[in-house]
Amino acid sequence: MNVMVAGGAGYIGSHATKLLLDAGHKVVVVDNLYRGHRAAVDSRADFVEADLAQTDVLEQTLREYRVECVMHFAALAYVGESVTDPLDYYDKNTGGTVSMLQAMKAAGVKKMVFSSTCATYGEPDDVPIVETMGQSPVSPYGWSKLFVERVLIDYAVSDPEFAFTALRYFNVAGASSDGSIGEDHEPETHLIPVICEAVLGVREKIVVFGTDYDTPDGTCIRDYIHVEDLCGAHILAMEKMQPGQTNFYNLGIGRGYSVKDIIESVKRVTGREFTIEYGERRAGDPPMLYANSEKIQGELGWKPNYTDLDEIVRTAWNWIEKHPDGYGD
Ligand code: UDP
Repeated sequence: MNVMVAGGAGYIGSHATKLLLDAGHKVVVVDNLYRGHRAAVDSRADFVEADLAQTDVLEQTLREYRVECVMHFAALAYVGESVTDPLDYYDKNTGGTVSMLQAMKAAGVKKMVFSSTCATYGEPDDVPIVETMGQSPVSPYGWSKLFVERVLIDYAVSDPEFAFTALRYFNVAGASSDGSIGEDHEPETHLIPVICEAVLGVREKIVVFGTDYDTPDGTCIRDYIHVEDLCGAHILAMEKMQPGQTNFYNLGIGRGYSVKDIIESVKRVTGREFTIEYGERRAGDPPMLYANSEKIQGELGWKPNYTDLDEIVRTAWNWIEKHPDGYGD
């Protein structure tokens, strides 16, 4: 298929681009390079530097490349930043998606795979999380994504041919299995790369955010899914989506690991010691989040290939060890 990957220079979008090309699809990446990296975009893809707000450029690009499906990854994704600058999150994440949908409507593109998040569930009463649980985000970031889910539902009602799949990500981790691309955020806040940077000495230490949670070892539990498994789910969703279908799926491996589990895994994988500081809780971190991903497994036949934590961490470490400055831009 002809696919537009919006946000294709970012961490997840760049991995999706590579896997789409490997699977024989044609890709045009659209990215404003605000937080993405040009070097992360596979050379087999076409690249258009544009912002989501440029509806006319999006429309023109959709027409020019005869795009059949948009994979929409372009977004701001720092929970803390969304609290201090909520308008930016509603503008870029919610407004940006509306602009993309307007361009798609004008160009007659009828399929979207949308990057949603488990942050739309807020602090759930129970785990594992199933798709039918109530959604009550605790951050503007979570709301900015939940609003898009609502926009998609309403738009799909207005156009019976429009189809979308919204994938609610849990903790995306790891890097390309061939070592060619990886995770490079500025600032980096995600647990696995932060620990890897502590191993390399790029940062002085890893601070564990809270040890008094109501979990077996007192640290927070999350569901870490390998970025290639996550991107594989996008491709499956795109290929199987029928006109008018609307789907929501959780995307995790259905297993939780604590912060201490991740630290031990990085020690095993790297064979190195590093400085660990046990600090205060970070505001807004729910104690335990992991997915029930039976729906996507049953309906799309998706299965994660990476089910071993050390294997996920190993791919992250392989890339970070060779690229301590990320893409160097
Ligand atoms: N975390 C931590 N120290 C760090 C970064 C993260 O203890 O330097 C914890 C964080 O509190 C959470 C888990 O690691 O419980 C995963 O955090 P991350 O920011 O990677 O993803 P999130 O769950 O916030 O999406």
